[in-house]
Amino acid sequence: MRKSNLERHLVNCPHCGKEVLDHFTQCPHCKGELTPRGYTEGDAKSRTKIRNILFVVLLVIAVAVLITLKS
Ligand SMILES: [Zn+2]
Repeated sequence: MRKSNLERHLVNCPHCGKEVLDHFTQCPHCKGELTPRGYTEGDAKSRTKIRNILFVVLLVIAVAVLITLKS
């Protein structure tokens, strides 16, 4: 039997073991802190890295535009 949409998004709370939705940041049963799926530390780090690369690219473009305007 296929699992329902809701069941696929259920995870067990690491603090009390009860079922909670995977996007919760706090357990509704024990108020324990949860790490929502898709918001792991690794993801946050890689997102920061991408933002840094974007910033450098924008900076290079800005400098290139400035040089072009001056000449
Ligand atoms: Zn809990």
